[in-house]
Amino acid sequence: MLVSDLSTELAWNTSKIDNVYDRAAGAYLGLAVGDALGATVEFMTPREIREVHGEHRNLIGGGWLRLRKGRVTDDTEMSLALGRSILEAGSVDARAIAEAFSEWMRTKPVDIGHTVRRGICQYRLNGTLEVPESEHDAGNGACMRCLPIALFTLGAAEEAVAEANRIQSHVTHHSRLADAGTLTVIRMIQFALLGRPKSDLRLLADDLVAAEPQYRFDRRRMENPGGYLVETLRAVFQALFATDSFETALLDVVNRGGDADTTGAILGMIAGALYGSDAIPRRWLGVLDKDTAAACMDQAAALLMGSARFDGAGFARGASSPSR
Ligand SMILES: [Mg+2]
Repeated sequence: MLVSDLSTELAWNTSKIDNVYDRAAGAYLGLAVGDALGATVEFMTPREIREVHGEHRNLIGGGWLRLRKGRVTDDTEMSLALGRSILEAGSVDARAIAEAFSEWMRTKPVDIGHTVRRGICQYRLNGTLEVPESEHDAGNGACMRCLPIALFTLGAAEEAVAEANRIQSHVTHHSRLADAGTLTVIRMIQFALLGRPKSDLRLLADDLVAAEPQYRFDRRRMENPGGYLVETLRAVFQALFATDSFETALLDVVNRGGDADTTGAILGMIAGALYGSDAIPRRWLGVLDKDTAAACMDQAAALLMGSARFDGAGFARGASSPSR
């Protein structure tokens, strides 16, 4: 059954709606918890992590960004900025998104990726809403913030979901390979929100590998994954499919080190949707920054409510911008 077929089912089943809200909250809190947990060990190798932490398993802050305990990084902050823009514009609008990202950069974020900074600077200088296609843009910076798209386009046809994702991604990253990987993550989250089993999520990952073999994840264990989305998703898929709980999946992926805040964030959003908010350990939720947690919960509910009105129309493409 396609995601689009399930919107009707949702509208008629109240208990399922309660459940989908819980899963959406799980996804957003899972993203933030994964980001905060992973940030401590970002850029460390698995061996270095073992030497310093044994198994890294608590939200203790620190890391190369010297974070306060429970604080998140750009992965969560950019998701919240994207979500705000969608809620304020009532649609996935490239200009509203670029403006929200620019506003976020003005807050002097604790961390910001090179490709993201370049994209926002292009917008400020030239009003660019869609950066040119480049194979160097296959970093994980657009995927790490894709959750608001998954929530807001829940129930829409796959092509409308893909278009919404291209609009948000191309403000800073324009890569066909990364678009395919990010769309797979979005659809996995949507399947999980609707209560589909993990085996169905595995089929989506297998479809991605069939279309883009670079994403093949059934070979060597991916340790120390870099910012290239192919490496990120190999680590995320391996951890997700080798475990059976939110906690074991997240611990597996962040202890691989490398770009651990982003593997944690992406794993956290998928696993949070799959296992629900109750599956997120209290010792993590209790430490997570309170304002961040509240913003995540609010957006999860508001974006899901917005998805009921979303029909795939009313997109504002960068290409139609008069300033281009
Ligand atoms: Mg980060």
